[in-house]
Amino acid sequence: MPTSLVTGGAGFLGSHLCDRLLERGHRVICVDNLETGSLRNIDHIRSERFEFLPLDITEHYEVPGPVDFVYHMASPASPIDYARLPLHTLKVGAYGTHNTLGLAKFKRARFLLASTSEVYGDPLVHPQPESYWGNVNPIGPRGVYDEAKRYAEALTMAYLRQQGVNTCIARIFNTYGPRMRPNDGRAVPTFLRQALTDKPVTVFGDGSQTRSFCYVDDLVEGLILLAESGVHEPVNIGNPDEMSLLDMAKLVVELTESRSEIVFEALPVDDPKVRQPDITRARELLGWEPRTPLRDGLTATIEHMTGQLRQPA
Ligand code: NAD
Repeated sequence: MPTSLVTGGAGFLGSHLCDRLLERGHRVICVDNLETGSLRNIDHIRSERFEFLPLDITEHYEVPGPVDFVYHMASPASPIDYARLPLHTLKVGAYGTHNTLGLAKFKRARFLLASTSEVYGDPLVHPQPESYWGNVNPIGPRGVYDEAKRYAEALTMAYLRQQGVNTCIARIFNTYGPRMRPNDGRAVPTFLRQALTDKPVTVFGDGSQTRSFCYVDDLVEGLILLAESGVHEPVNIGNPDEMSLLDMAKLVVELTESRSEIVFEALPVDDPKVRQPDITRARELLGWEPRTPLRDGLTATIEHMTGQLRQPA
């Protein structure tokens, strides 16, 4: 039975990854300090093959027994979180990635880095292929996240080239789905929370900036295919269907049958104007592409968030 270690396994993406790996018969070790994740995301898991270790990966850590795959998902990921935790975000990208790569080396495990489309910054190339080096502002408020991930990518390649660790890098584009926190500040959960409570839906700027939204099940499938491949170079994992944030806000209002009006607020600093993955590499090397229609994914997300909003905080 293969063993997978998932750092950040109690977070949004990490918890879905734990679910899918357990379905595939893996033993799963979930490491998380619950900084932005929650036990609620994993308390439905009843498997004896699942173990939760409450550890901070910025400190040296060890896990028991053999490990075949390391999915390094831990990091604050929403702009609200990394604005609140700028130094921690840099430390997770640096020390946390060092410690986790060292552990993968010791265990002789395949290592997957959860990187991000934010390594492309405010892109000057559209759509973004993996060969694009990006346009990142290192000293802006988003720099702590973007540069932490760029450093983590450099570190991963150094462990591959110098230490012989079997690594891969997933550049994850905007992903949505059940278990996103209603107040995490990202566009989809914010629009959903506002629409489900009939509050004004706040769109930044004039809403013409674009994003490409991937449903979490598709994303997790792409991560597993990449981890189980022999690919070492970065691979974009995301949905190439691009839409404006204003159109997303309108769709959310329609699907939730909300009485909310759409209002416009100032654009955040360094907010990327466009975002669309070129997924040719994922198609060719992994045979992967997203399958879930946006309306289906949003409907599942709405159902989950409706339940969350009814629960006490
Ligand atoms: P999330 O905040 O829900 O999950 C991150 C998890 O990491 C949380 O459970 C948190 O408690 C944990 N964590 C943070 N610091 C830690 C530490 N020092 N030690 C142990 N655990 C720690 O975020 P997410 O959306 O699930 O993102 C998961 C990963 O995917 C992140 O690395 C993020 O950068 C990347 N990513 C996500 C998206 C997206 O759209 N969700 C897009 C691009 C990249």
